[in-house]
Amino acid sequence: MKKITIAIDGHSSCGKSTMAKDLAREIGYIYIDSGAMYRCCTLFCMRHNLVNPDGTIRADELERLMPEIHVSFQLNPEKGTPDAYLNGENVEREIRTMEVSSHVSPVAALPFVRTAMTAQQQAMGRDGGIVMDGRDIGTAVFPDAELKIFVTASDEIRAQRRYDELAAKGEHPDFNAVLANLRERDRIDSTRAVAPLRQAPDALILDNSHLTIPEQKLWLLEQFHKLTQ
Ligand code: C5P
Repeated sequence: MKKITIAIDGHSSCGKSTMAKDLAREIGYIYIDSGAMYRCCTLFCMRHNLVNPDGTIRADELERLMPEIHVSFQLNPEKGTPDAYLNGENVEREIRTMEVSSHVSPVAALPFVRTAMTAQQQAMGRDGGIVMDGRDIGTAVFPDAELKIFVTASDEIRAQRRYDELAAKGEHPDFNAVLANLRERDRIDSTRAVAPLRQAPDALILDNSHLTIPEQKLWLLEQFHKLTQ
């Protein structure tokens, strides 16, 4: 059976990667977290002093250094999901901190960053059989994806999920800071000039504010089977 392309887009911290990972594992597809790629670029900026004190990015310098940024994924056998690598170093944990979250959207808004990451994402999905989550997968990366989902949930519920995730990793974030960060990321992601966060016209909408993880998994599997059986 031909393997399709599945694009899962939506707002920050609404559980896209959880559902994308679960689905990919269940149906034997490759899972790619496109947000991790922008987070790797951001970590690179932080390590190379490319973030100004006011949060703006030294774009000219970053553009010159772009060829030195290599993002890849390798399966973590313990978790059964891919970890992100920046220039061969496993940075899966480091890219999930609040500090990276607070700088990632300005980095991801830079057109030359998007051009480079989009090209890599398209190469990864060339043969189908992929579930990719992000902000512009169904609109810009794979506009011909057979299954497109646009996920959302209320701001407070999303902030609580993100807060719980960080707390489980031993961080002690301030709830209001988490809420402010995701609203700010959504604002920047939705208003940028290149590939803004938008629902593709042919995407199915899923508001998972009141769904459990098993319920949303079931819903997603149903959409997949409707298309492929
Ligand atoms: O998905 P995640 O929250 O990890 O993504 C981090 C950030 O990367 C987003 O807030 C957004 O600024 C950027 N991003 C993007 N396009 C994508 C995926 C993520 O601009 N396809």
